[in-house]
Amino acid sequence: MAQLSDDCFAFGGALLGIDAARDMIFERVVPVAGIEQVPLRRALGRTLGQDITAPIAVPGYDNSAVDGYAVRFDDLDSVRETVLRCVDRAAAGHGATMALGPGEAIRIFTGAMLPDGADVVIMQEDCLRDHDLVTIRPGIKRGANLRRAGEDIARDSIALTAGRRLGPADLGLLAALGFVKVPVRRRLSVALLSTGDEVREPGELLRPGQVHDANRYVLAGMLERLDVDVADLGIVHDDPASLGDVLRRAAEKNDLIVTSGGVSTGEEDHVRAAIANHGSLYFWRLAIKPGRPVAMGQIGATPLAGLPGNPVAALLTFALVARPMIEALSGTEPHIARRFRVMSAFDYRKKAGRREFVRVSLDRPDAGLAVATRFAKEGAGMLTSLTETDGLVELPEELTKLQSGTEVDFVPYSELM
Ligand code: AMP
Ligand code: MG
Repeated sequence: MAQLSDDCFAFGGALLGIDAARDMIFERVVPVAGIEQVPLRRALGRTLGQDITAPIAVPGYDNSAVDGYAVRFDDLDSVRETVLRCVDRAAAGHGATMALGPGEAIRIFTGAMLPDGADVVIMQEDCLRDHDLVTIRPGIKRGANLRRAGEDIARDSIALTAGRRLGPADLGLLAALGFVKVPVRRRLSVALLSTGDEVREPGELLRPGQVHDANRYVLAGMLERLDVDVADLGIVHDDPASLGDVLRRAAEKNDLIVTSGGVSTGEEDHVRAAIANHGSLYFWRLAIKPGRPVAMGQIGATPLAGLPGNPVAALLTFALVARPMIEALSGTEPHIARRFRVMSAFDYRKKAGRREFVRVSLDRPDAGLAVATRFAKEGAGMLTSLTETDGLVELPEELTKLQSGTEVDFVPYSELM
């Protein structure tokens, strides 16, 4: 289970900047997930638990990068054609049986070991073969078309570092190094619940004033993409006692609790009160829009991210706050969302001192930067504002006025979830 010191997230006062919030998470939340060995085929998406030192070099031997002829560079005439005698054959998996002597060539195929004495390979397209004679065009560079032992990965070098989330290419690299099992961090268990007397499961008939639970599906999807085990605790009523019970039980069995709804300052916003009563609450009013109210705290020693109820705000604050907490708990290298420069096609006014995220669609003109058009409808509850756009324009704290035609930073959704 998580180990948080009690002053974790302690913060009073004004709006907290998103960078400061992030720094605080990585300072205070420590990895809790132990290390286990899993078969290579089960390691996709897992967090590497230890640095991987290469037990062998890749490639393991000098070999040919092309189909052609292995020769001695010093035999080649630099201005005229050279004629050499082909004396042997080396295919991948089958070396030549003899070393290369002066005036000789050895027919070689991609991946075959370079014969002793050879120091360059001529592509077959640059040769003419007539019985056992090979005529080679001039102008070949020394060392051409070779792959040297260890040029990809040197033996005893660090091939992958601890904390990396393993992707398909990483698995290929581990396989090339001969690993059968990989040391990875144990998967985190994250409890997920929605709050709100009006919130109902999809499939239930809605009475007036009720809504289907969209957030749990957004957040479960984001959690699953981060390769954690989701303990789905369903929907909890706006009732301090039952909320407290659920949170306490969740804290005993999980590494992190993620909730949505009930963190604003309304009388029916009970998540904050429940955390304060059953753990420690450090209320963050993040200096962002959408998503300002985000409750941070811990129940027992288990951290909790209390996200806002509006789906757009829940998604964004998950990416900005809950994801770093997961990375910190699982010892995963923090993901830095990539930004791309685009051209704004809209004017915008904002307050100084907070970072704002504007939902936009991108169009790519024939030349120049992609153009970002703002979604026509406002509101942090608008699901179509996510499904019908490509990502977010990120407007920095100090900006107050944006004019159409200005370069801005764009974050695609693929970088957030
Ligand atoms: P709250 O943060 O609890 O004040 O909720 C803010 C808004 O988000 C309200 O309109 C809620 O009905 C809505 N909301 C809260 N939870 C969910 C949910 N799980 N799915 C969809 N909408 C929600
Ligand atoms: Mg609510």
